[in-house]
Amino acid sequence: MNELLVFGTGNAMVTKYYNTCFALFDGNEYFMVDAGGGNGIFAILEQMEVPFQKIHHIFFTHEHSDHILGAVWMVRKIGTLMNQGKYEGDLHIYCHKDLVDTIATLCQLTLQKKVCNHFGERILLIPVEDGEEKQILSYDVTFFDIHSTKAKQFGFTANMNDGQKLTCLGDEPYNEKCHQYIAGSDWMLCEAFCLYGDRERFKPYEKNHSTVKEACELAEELAIPNVVLWHTEDKTAPNRKELYTAEGKELYHGNLLIPDDKERILL
Ligand SMILES: [Zn+2]
Repeated sequence: MNELLVFGTGNAMVTKYYNTCFALFDGNEYFMVDAGGGNGIFAILEQMEVPFQKIHHIFFTHEHSDHILGAVWMVRKIGTLMNQGKYEGDLHIYCHKDLVDTIATLCQLTLQKKVCNHFGERILLIPVEDGEEKQILSYDVTFFDIHSTKAKQFGFTANMNDGQKLTCLGDEPYNEKCHQYIAGSDWMLCEAFCLYGDRERFKPYEKNHSTVKEACELAEELAIPNVVLWHTEDKTAPNRKELYTAEGKELYHGNLLIPDDKERILL
C-alpha cells in the first residue's frame, strides 16, 4: 500500500493553507518532500499522526523559504529526539549539491550545538545529481533538474513496489527537457498557481507559475492517469477544489485531484 500524505497545498504567501509539502508512505515509513516554511509542520504531522520516528528520509527541492525553512524545525525536533534517545537510526536529507551548505548554515545559525553536532554523524546531508538514482524506503527514486529559471530546483520520479510511477515536477512549469521522467508516469504532482480564468487577478506567468489549464493540458497530452495540483493561491478557498476541478475537467479526462491540506491519497 502506498499513500500520498498531503501536508500543505499553498504557495509561499498563503494564510489559509500551509506551504506545499508532502510525504510518500509505503505502509511502514515516510519519504518526506520539503517541509514548508516553519513550525506549522509540527501541527500537521501531529494531526495526521505521522511520528517523527518514522521519518528518516527528507528531500528538499530548492532554496525558497516556503520549502526549505521547515528543514530547521525538522532537524531541531529530530536532533532533540536523538539526544533524548527517542529516535533510532539516522536522518537522511537529500538535495541538489548547492543546497547542502544552505541547509547546514540555516541550522547552524538558528539551532543549538547539541542538535547541529549530529550533522555528519546521524543527520546526513546527501547531495544528489541530475539523473541520480537512490533507493529510498521501497521506492526507486530518480532525482532530476527541473531547469528552473529562478533558483536551481530538483524534482523526482519514484517507482513504487506495485509497479506505479510517480513524478513530482516541483513548483514551476514543466520543461520539455524533463520528458523522460514524466513520460509513462501514473501520477503527476504539479503546481497550478490559480485558475486560468483568474490569470489577470493572480498573474501566475509573471511569477513563472502555471494555471490549472496548462497543468491539465500537459497531463492530457502525456496521458497521465492521475494528477495532483497544488502550490496554489488561497483567495478561492474554501471553493478551490470545486472551481479548479471544474476548469481542469474541461481539458483533462483522467483522475484530477485538488487536495486540501492534511488529505491522504491512496496511490
Ligand atoms: Zn514554492
